[in-house]
Amino acid sequence: MKKLLFLTALIILNGSLFAQTLPCANDSLQYRYSLADPNYHSQRQSYIERINDYRQNPPTGSFIDYGDPSTALDLGCRTTRYVIPVVIHINHDTLVQVTDTQVYQQLQILNDAFLPFNVQFCLAKKRPNGIGFNGINRFSSIHNPTDNESANQMVNLTNVAYYNPSKYLNIYVVKEILENGQPSGYIGYNSNYPFQNYLDGIVLLHTRFGDSTSCYDCGPLAGGSRGKVLVHEVGHYLGLFHIFEGSCTGGNTAGTCDKEGDLCCDTRPVLGPLGSCNIDTSIRSCLNYHLSIPENRSNYMEYSGEACMTNFSPDQVSIMHASLELYRSGLIRTENVIIS
Ligand SMILES: [Zn+2]
Repeated sequence: MKKLLFLTALIILNGSLFAQTLPCANDSLQYRYSLADPNYHSQRQSYIERINDYRQNPPTGSFIDYGDPSTALDLGCRTTRYVIPVVIHINHDTLVQVTDTQVYQQLQILNDAFLPFNVQFCLAKKRPNGIGFNGINRFSSIHNPTDNESANQMVNLTNVAYYNPSKYLNIYVVKEILENGQPSGYIGYNSNYPFQNYLDGIVLLHTRFGDSTSCYDCGPLAGGSRGKVLVHEVGHYLGLFHIFEGSCTGGNTAGTCDKEGDLCCDTRPVLGPLGSCNIDTSIRSCLNYHLSIPENRSNYMEYSGEACMTNFSPDQVSIMHASLELYRSGLIRTENVIIS
């Protein structure tokens, strides 16, 4: 009985934290997949093994050369190792007015986070039919793509617009993310880890797209959007789990820290999500962890709130690079970057 009460209290505590801070629907969507797909756990396990093989024996010569800078891409969009063409699909209506400026600012925030790790996101230059455009695709609400749970929402969104996910990163900016027809409190999600074959893309609430200085719906900067939610979701897209994955059993020894939890030995396992930048959460520390490393409260894959999210750990970066090379190589191939 005591155990049940503890679990109930934990769920309530986590629920309140999720409500206040940075909830993404990633875990609830993955849980739904795990119930429906008998291969879910074996695919996840082989991902972990492949990633670790790659990390232990990284191939030489994998650096991608994008060649002559006078080709299709904008100057400045080939400054790094991995270039990913992006299309922003905006569910546009009288209540959701996302400007081009807001898109450019969000991309800048994304690149500020990833460029130090040799990953760059560039707005696509051509639609799948070869016609040029600016990487921004607006569609009307007539299809009502928000009026469903996240898994169904992806179906609706991709029915409206879905560029080949092996060539483009599809990002959808929507009015609402509902669960069971009700407002969910979720502000975004990544629909598909690199090792999965579900519909592939990232969904963001329009009030969390970009920075409060360019987004009139995003609230005052102190409590409003800083464009970090997309950084977090792209972390999932490139294979990262939350740093609280697995709670205190998530890789809590030197022998398991790269195989359990978030697969990172340089992020300390924690009981659950943090919930804010400053809250005293000493009870959530996992005391048996083999390294005396402090909790990383400012990690992008934490739920600490946008104001204090500033870093990826070296192990997280190695996972993202391995995911790109092993699972998303179509995106970053030179010929794709040039023609997309
Ligand atoms: Zn998340």
